[in-house]
Amino acid sequence: MIRKTDFYIDGAWVAPAAQRDFDVIDPSTEEPCAVISLGDKADTDAAVAAAKRAFGPWSALPPAERLGIVKKILEVYTARAEEMAQAISLEMGAPIDLARSSQVTAGAFHIKNFIRAMDQIEFIRPLGPHAPNDRIALEPIGVVGLITPWNWPMNQVTLKVIPALLAGCTMVLKPSEVAPLSSLLFAEILDEAGVPKGVFNLVNGDGAGVGTQLSTHPDVEMISFTGSTRAGKAISVAAAETLKRVCLELGGKGANVVFADADEKAVKRGVLHCFNNSGQSCNAPTRMLVERPIYDQAVEIAREVAEKTAVASAHEEGRHIGPVVNETQYDKIQALIQKGIDEGARLVAGGTGRPEGLNRGYFVRPTVFADVTPGMTIEREEIFGPVLSMIPFETEEEAVRIANDTAYGLTNYVQSEDPAKRNRMARALRSGMVEMNGQPRGAGAPFGGVKSSGRAREGGTWGIEEFLEVKAISGWGVEAAE
Ligand code: NAD
Repeated sequence: MIRKTDFYIDGAWVAPAAQRDFDVIDPSTEEPCAVISLGDKADTDAAVAAAKRAFGPWSALPPAERLGIVKKILEVYTARAEEMAQAISLEMGAPIDLARSSQVTAGAFHIKNFIRAMDQIEFIRPLGPHAPNDRIALEPIGVVGLITPWNWPMNQVTLKVIPALLAGCTMVLKPSEVAPLSSLLFAEILDEAGVPKGVFNLVNGDGAGVGTQLSTHPDVEMISFTGSTRAGKAISVAAAETLKRVCLELGGKGANVVFADADEKAVKRGVLHCFNNSGQSCNAPTRMLVERPIYDQAVEIAREVAEKTAVASAHEEGRHIGPVVNETQYDKIQALIQKGIDEGARLVAGGTGRPEGLNRGYFVRPTVFADVTPGMTIEREEIFGPVLSMIPFETEEEAVRIANDTAYGLTNYVQSEDPAKRNRMARALRSGMVEMNGQPRGAGAPFGGVKSSGRAREGGTWGIEEFLEVKAISGWGVEAAE
């Protein structure tokens, strides 16, 4: 059994102030696979104090030197990719091939994009020719608290830690207690890459403990959070007393609008995307809106794709989907599938219970509901499992209305061969991102949402700017060397 109860504080692995052991469960077997400790206030205070001491020297470093350290982090991260894949697969149940090909590479992708984006950030620049003695300076906000979830661990950790480092902030990371092993390895990577002591600190813990201690801490200037809308609201309330900046990256209920003129692979692509990572992605296209003339055919394709989607242990190689992360999520998904049936949606594939032949592990049957109507629980709530809701529509206006009739607004999707229609849809959908015809967003594009999906923008220059304050200066001595 892996035992990793120490925290990374002030450049060293230190024992928790009070030992509160917590089991990490392997979702493929339901057995404990590691023990960590949940921190308490003394640990959080020590980590914040270390970050506060390190802030002066780290923020004063020329940006090029911080960039040099981040390049070194990328080197070490790449060298330890296999260890990272094993850690992620074990802690949250991503099949090992998916962990290697998507989970780990997402982290490297973001680090590379931030390195590129750093060139475009002007830390000090003139306001404009009309005000020659004015300067606009971008300065690091200070000590930041980073709270991350379990579904794409390194994707989310790199989207926070790397821009915070580049901006000149110092930090305390509290990864999800459900999936802490990858972050513990990430701390080792930062240590090996030579991040100075105190700049990056890691304290494990739960939301009620370390999460709340960071959100209320007077020396923490900002919380960057990814996770549930529930926790996002709690953090906003907790952070209000100290008026922190709060950047929230929350859930989603993405619509995938498939028009009758969509390419022939559009439906299959949409179903596979919904099931990817066992449906545990905030930007999953979980509501498939299909134009009436191709609706019956689309339901049939979705059924076939779901029935062909293999489910198996995360430890097996292959392109199957793995379990969902834990018992709580398993129970929640089962209850929502049952709710879909009870509320009258047509079950086309899957359903409640485990897939045939799997008696242990949090395995969910790939499930498709057809004839879902706006307002049904499965159409409203983020399920976070391999469950697709299909909804027919008659006109473009109706599709926009159904797609936008949600509390969320993260990513929406459009499938059509008509470029003018695609562009109209892209502008009409209320979300932070719109992806069309299966084309992924380009490197460095901002990731984030509107409404209950939170209003953070992560990635690229936007992701670095979240950690910066804007200072307006007049009377700048232009005669002095800049
Ligand atoms: P969660 O929001 O409870 O946990 C995410 C992180 O926040 C963890 O590190 C957790 O310890 C911390 N946290 C929880 N409550 C907190 C609080 N009050 N103050 C500070 N930190 C707190 O998410 P979960 O329980 O792991 O998953 C529940 C649901 O959240 C899922 O079903 C899914 O809908 C959603 N979710 C969304 C995302 C996303 O990327 N948008 C990721 C994970 C989960």
